[in-house]
This record gives sequence, C-alpha cells and structure tokens, in this order.
Amino acid sequence: MTAYSGPVFDMAVKQFEVIADHLSIPEDARARLLMPKRAVTVSCPIHRDDGTTAVFEGYRVQHHLTLGPTKGGTRFAASVDLGEVAALAIWMSWKCALVGLPYGGAKGGISVEPSSLSRRELEALSRRYMQEMIPFVGPHTDVMAPDMGTNEQIMAWFMDTYSMYQGQTVAEIVTGKPVSAGGTLGRREATGRGVAHLVRRAADELQIHLSHATAVVQGFGNVGSITALELHNSGVKVIAVSDHTGALYRPAGLNIPNLVEHAASKGSLEGYSTELGFDPAEILSLPCDILVPAAVERVIDARVAAHLRCRILAEGANGPTTPEADQILGKRRKEIFLVPDILCNSGGVVVSYFEWVQDLQRLFWEEDEVMRREYQVLDRAFHEVSARSKREGVFNRTAAMAIGVERVRGAKDTRGLFP
Ligand code: NAD
Repeated sequence: MTAYSGPVFDMAVKQFEVIADHLSIPEDARARLLMPKRAVTVSCPIHRDDGTTAVFEGYRVQHHLTLGPTKGGTRFAASVDLGEVAALAIWMSWKCALVGLPYGGAKGGISVEPSSLSRRELEALSRRYMQEMIPFVGPHTDVMAPDMGTNEQIMAWFMDTYSMYQGQTVAEIVTGKPVSAGGTLGRREATGRGVAHLVRRAADELQIHLSHATAVVQGFGNVGSITALELHNSGVKVIAVSDHTGALYRPAGLNIPNLVEHAASKGSLEGYSTELGFDPAEILSLPCDILVPAAVERVIDARVAAHLRCRILAEGANGPTTPEADQILGKRRKEIFLVPDILCNSGGVVVSYFEWVQDLQRLFWEEDEVMRREYQVLDRAFHEVSARSKREGVFNRTAAMAIGVERVRGAKDTRGLFP
C-alpha cells in the first residue's frame, strides 16, 4: 500500500513492472524510477452563488525531476483522486522521454464535476487552486496544461492568478492558453491532429487506404472531436462517436463538421439526433478500421480486448487499456496495430513544449511551423517504436514504454544518486 494505491495507480505499477522485467531492471532500482517525487493535496474553498461555502480537494503530483521541470495537465472530474493523478504523472514521464522533451511528468486535478459549477464558481475554483499551488509550481519547476474538464479559459485564469502574485506576466507558467494570452497557434488542435497523423502512419504500414477506411471515436471533447474531424478531412468515414451523454452510429458515415459545431455550441452530443442513437456500451466492439478511445481510463478491459474488431487501435485517451487487456492485445498484435497512448496523444505535450519555449523567448511561430515540428517529432518517435517492436518481437506498448523508461533510467544513472 502507498498513499497512491487505487485502481489507476495499480495499473501504472503493473505496466511498469512488465517493462522493468523486459528491460531486466534490478528490483532495487525500480522504486526510484516509479515512485513520484512529490505530491501535494490542497483544500480549495469557494463561495457558491447561493452564498454557501464549498470546499473541493485538489492534487498535484510531480513524478521525477531528473530531466528538467515537470509538465502535465490539470483534470477537473468527479473521479479525480491522488492515485489517478499519480498514475497520469507517471505516464507523462514515459511520454515526455519517448518523444525527447526535457521534462519529467506531472499531473494535477480537482475532484469536481465542472458542469455542476456556474462560470463564476468555476473561475473562483480555478483561481483558488492555482493560488494554493504557487509554492509548488513555477515555469522552471512544474508547468501546467489542460486535460479532461479543463480548457483554454481555465489556463488563462491559472496564468493570470500566478502572474498577479508575481507582479508581472508569467505566460510560461501554463500551456494550452488562448493565443490572446500568450498561447501558441496549433495547441488546441495539437493532440487530435497528432492522433490523426499517427493513424495515417499506421495505415501506411498496414497499407490501408484512408479513403476506404472507417473509424469509431469514443469521447468528443478536445481530443476526440479534433481527431474525428482530422480523420474525416483525410477521407475516413467516421461511422460512430460517443460522449458521456450517449453514442451516435451511422454506417454510411456521420457528418463530423456538423457534429463538431453542435458539440461546440451545446457542450455535448446530446440533442443532435434520436434516430442515430446507439448503445454506448457497444461502441468499442463495432467493426471498423480505426478505433480511437479518447475519453477516460480503463475502458478496454480483457473482455472488450477480446471483442475488438478494429485494425488500428489509436489511444487518444491516457490509460484506456488495462494490463489484462494488454495481454490479449499482445497476442493479437498481428491483427490489431496499437498506437499506444504515450505515443498516440503526445502531440499535445509536444506543442505545449513549443508554447513554453515560445513564451520563454517571447518569439512566436506561425501555425505551419508548429505543425511541421509537431509531425517531425511524432514521425521520429513512431519510427523508433515501430523499429524496436520489430527488433524485439514485442507489441508497440512494450516498445514505446521501454524507450521512455530506459531514457529516464539512463538520465538518473548518469546524474547519479545525491548525496
Ligand atoms: P475533454 O474534457 O475535452 O473531453 C472528454 C470527453 O470524454 C467528453 O466528450 C466527455 O463527454 C467524454 N466522456 C467522458 N466520460 C465518458 C464515457 N464514460 N464514455 C464516453 N465518453 C465519455 O477531455 P480531453 O482533453 O479531450 O481528454 C480526453 C482524454 O485525452 C483524457 O484521457 C486525457 O487525459 C487525454 N489527453 C488529453 C490531452 C489534451 O491536450 N487535451 C492530451 C493528451 C491526452
């Protein structure tokens, strides 16, 4: 038992153990790589609109400090707890190392259902959370970003709050800000664009023509909606999408631009159509070429993994697949090409890194430049994962995580153990 124990943290531990065995990491070297360096829990009191006071629990976990500042998103969701945040921080570390960013992983969050708050309450909670985090974060210590339930506006409130306390604008304290507040062009779209780009790479390997391909996307927030739109624009027929309000299925292909517009104005897919309604529990096992889970963790368990009927599984979400499901996907690796989460959704942190660099330099790039560099980083990582998986005869998650873990371990070994 540790302070982090829980189903999501246990999953990150199990995944790490598989890799540690694969890399023959000695038992006594494992905890130093796996256990988070620091964690903080804060109480965030706010005035509700009805005059009462409510207190929300917030967290931030910094996994390792070996390669530079820590970096990671902030999640607002009812399910958030310390263990989930710690697991997400660990995955961020392997992801940043895999794509070659000078960061350790971090993650934060508040246990709150954001839709239960008014805009004023949401602003008060966001500002209070950042204020409580001030002793713990900094542009060279720990840099925040958006995740589930948070967005550009919340990042702008974080940045403004931190800056007010410093007496000057510190844009580089968070990424994923609006462009008008020091954000970079291409950040909002970066994760979904990256997912779609890597799907194109996987399709090239499998010689799948996208104009004949079908896709299913679970989750229609930042990552899911942009991935669906990018796939649609690449000629893919997106036949099903879902969010927390339900699922839509149309074998001839959904009108994705219309759905994106609907979700942007209404906040979800709800109310778009009753005719196209479909059982959300069935969405992952629909036959399709490309399946993109882009919502929450642990949706693909062993039972679902055995029933998947896709050829490319592109993990837009963090941790959508359990270690038990991985055992099945490992065996099905000739049938299903996995683009593992730490590679698949890394476009977000890659462009966050570009935003941080631009903010530090006060020198901003054109969107074309951002996208060109994003795809260059993703192509290199895709190639490394693919080559390693072939060389070692392992499936892509093992290859991707082995590269990430090995890089963090290499840096720790070179720096040595202080004192
Ligand atoms: P978001 O809040 O914008 O959207 C989340 C979506 O998931 C919403 O459409 C919501 O309705 C849906 N959802 C929630 N529970 C669901 C359920 N049980 N079934 C189906 N849909 C459900 O969040 P996001 O930023 O798009 O993040 C989605 C995933 O991608 C998370 O795992 C996140 O950690 C990961 N991720 C996000 C980024 C980023 O840049 N935003 C980067 C890397 C990874």
